[in-house]
Amino acid sequence: MEKQEIIRILESNNLESIRKKAYSVMKEYSGEKVYYRGLLEFSNICINDCYYCGIRKSNKESNRFSLTKQEIIDIAVWTADNGYGSMVLQSGGQKDDKFIDFVEDVLKTIKEKTISEKLPNGLGITLCVGEQTHETYKRFFDAGAHRYLLRIETTSPILYKKLHPETQTLENRKECLRILKQIGYQVGTGVMIGIPGQTIDDLANDILFFKEYDIDMIGMGPYLIHKQTPMKIHTEEMEKRKKQVFNLSLKMIAAARILLKDVNIAATTALQAMDPIGREKGLQYGANIVMPLVTPSRIRKDYQLYDGKPCIDEQSSDCRECLLNRIKSVGREVGFNEWGDSKHFFKRIK
Ligand code: SAH
Repeated sequence: MEKQEIIRILESNNLESIRKKAYSVMKEYSGEKVYYRGLLEFSNICINDCYYCGIRKSNKESNRFSLTKQEIIDIAVWTADNGYGSMVLQSGGQKDDKFIDFVEDVLKTIKEKTISEKLPNGLGITLCVGEQTHETYKRFFDAGAHRYLLRIETTSPILYKKLHPETQTLENRKECLRILKQIGYQVGTGVMIGIPGQTIDDLANDILFFKEYDIDMIGMGPYLIHKQTPMKIHTEEMEKRKKQVFNLSLKMIAAARILLKDVNIAATTALQAMDPIGREKGLQYGANIVMPLVTPSRIRKDYQLYDGKPCIDEQSSDCRECLLNRIKSVGREVGFNEWGDSKHFFKRIK
C-alpha cells in the first residue's frame, strides 16, 4: 500500500501537487523553520574505496589534508558565534586509534568552548565519520556528539555491491545504524539518487527502509560523477539524465516527508551542484535543514566527493549571508541558536 503511494509520487509528472502536499505535511509535523548545520569537512583521508567518491583511497590525485585541533575548535567557535546552533563534523573513513582519540578530544573541547548564554548546552554536534565499532560510537557519544549521519547509499544489495569493494558491506552499514540507535544517537541516513542502474522500485524500497529503521534524519541527494573515479564511464549517460535525476531528487524529498512526517530532512549541497537554486527547491519540497559550509576556503577544493561542488571559492561568512537570503527568498525563517533536533527522535524514545 505505502509502496504504491511512494511509486506514484516518484513516477508523477505533477511536481507542483507533490510539492504542495509535502510542504503541508512538513508545516504540520515539523514546522516551517529551517535549521543550520555548519558543515566542516575536517579531513579527506580515507581508508575506503567507494567507486563513486572523489576522496576514495585509490584516488592518488587527491591532495590529502587533516585540520589541526586548533583549526577545528576555532571554526566551531565561529559557527556558534554566528548563531548556527549546530555543526556537522565530516571526514573520510578512518578507524585508527590516533584518529579516534583525536575526534574524541575535539568533541569534548568543542562542547567546553561553545557553551554560552545563547547556547546553554553548547553547539549541537552531528558526526559523520563512517563505519566504526560499537565502542568507538559510544566514546564519541559520551564525548558530546548527539547525532550521527551514516548514509546507507542504496538499500539494493545488487547496487550496493556494484558501488563498493567486497570489504564494504550493506550488512555492516545496517548493523552500524542499529548500534547508533541503541547508543542513543539521533540517527540520520540517506541514499544517492540516480545511480546508474537504480530503479524507481529501488528508491521506493529506500524510503521504506528509512521507515522500518525508524530513522530520525534524512540526507539525500543526486548522484554526481567525479572524473577521478571508476564511475566516470557513466558521464555521458548522467549528462543526459540530469534534469530527470534532479526532479527525482526533489520527489524523493517529498516522498520521504509525506511518508515519514516528523523527521528532519536536509536540502543537500549536491542539489545545488545540479541547479543554482537547488537547495531552495529542496526546502520547498519538504526539507527543513541546510548545511552551510564552514570548511576553510583553501581546502574546499580538496574535499570534492563529486565534480562541480558549489561554494568552493567562498568564505564561510559569504555562505552565511548567501544562504540566509536564499532561505528568505522562499519565505522561510532560520532557527538561529537552536539545535533544531528531529521531532521524530523524541517521539521514538518516549
Ligand atoms: N566517510 C563518511 C562521509 C562520506 S562523504 C561516511 O562514510 O559516511 C558523505 C556522503 O557523500 C556519502 O555518504 C555519499 O552519499 C555522498 N557522496 C559521495 N560521493 C558522491 C557522489 N559522487 N555523488 C553524490 N554524492 C556522493
